[in-house]
Amino acid sequence: MIGPKYTSDPEADIYAGCLSEGVKFLYCPMCKELRVKPWYAIRNRCQRCFGEATVIPIPNNWMSYATYALYVVVPLLIALYLYLKDRSYLYLAIGGLVIMMVITFINLGRAEAYARTRIKTTVARRKDQQPSDE
Ligand SMILES: [Zn+2]
Repeated sequence: MIGPKYTSDPEADIYAGCLSEGVKFLYCPMCKELRVKPWYAIRNRCQRCFGEATVIPIPNNWMSYATYALYVVVPLLIALYLYLKDRSYLYLAIGGLVIMMVITFINLGRAEAYARTRIKTTVARRKDQQPSDE
């Protein structure tokens, strides 16, 4: 479950992006597309047109840290279950995993909303080059 994954599945990219040091979004002014920057992406390029994209870093919040914490706790609980053969640890692990997924989902929605507010300021700054259509 944990580990590098090279995939074209955007859901997996989002998931992986949450584990790196803070989520980053890439905004392409050409495609007008906002995407989560995949953790393995070194250059800030649009995945569709390979043009230059603007990076929008998302500051970490308690939800990001809660996700990191659960990422350590859940495998630990599974290890405890395997070692002690006590099913309550397994249920705790499953519960932790569900909480982790929910927090990741909510946090990503928040991150995207934050990134969208950032686009407006970015676009406004280059108004002379690229007029906003709003
Ligand atoms: Zn593009």
